[in-house]
Amino acid sequence: MAFELPPLPYSRDALAPHISEETLNYHYGKHHQAYVNNLNKMIDGTDLEGKPLEEIIETAEADSSKAGLFNNAAQVWNHTFYWHSMKPGGGGKPSGAIADKIDSDFGSYDKFAEEFKGAGGGQFGSGWAWLVLKNGKLEVRKTPNAETPLTEDGATPLLTMDVWEHAYYLDYQNSRPNYMQAWLESVVNWDFANQNLADAN
Ligand code: FE
Repeated sequence: MAFELPPLPYSRDALAPHISEETLNYHYGKHHQAYVNNLNKMIDGTDLEGKPLEEIIETAEADSSKAGLFNNAAQVWNHTFYWHSMKPGGGGKPSGAIADKIDSDFGSYDKFAEEFKGAGGGQFGSGWAWLVLKNGKLEVRKTPNAETPLTEDGATPLLTMDVWEHAYYLDYQNSRPNYMQAWLESVVNWDFANQNLADAN
């Protein structure tokens, strides 16, 4: 059974004007679809065919001869997680358990936001900024290219922000800071972070 492009949790124009329909047409419809297609080609006829995505990612990460497979499999997972990390009418300060935990682990929402944008802005070239739960504490991470905290022992991803240029270039051109600001102010999905935090506990 081949992997399929997972459905977007909203319509392609639902995040506009912060993230446009045109961006999602390329980012979801072309880039994410290409990662799915490449993954299917790479596992076709191998003993990884039919295995869960997470297992394929872990197997490929442990084998340097499978770097191409790792990149495509992890990008399939990372992008699905990214679409859920946003929602129409999202953004702003969190509420619920994640809000309390941000206050206790970062000091304040503003300190978290500064660190999160610092991670995204400090990722040279392509990559991701993450909010993860590690050993019971929230941490901000950045990863290059397709790398993901999913496979890190004891780390549970709660949110991610794609900082590859394909995530923002059509809407913000070269201004990654403007994209990250809009992402936090207008689209971040704290319900998803709260759900992931609850599932991890
Ligand atoms: Fe992307």
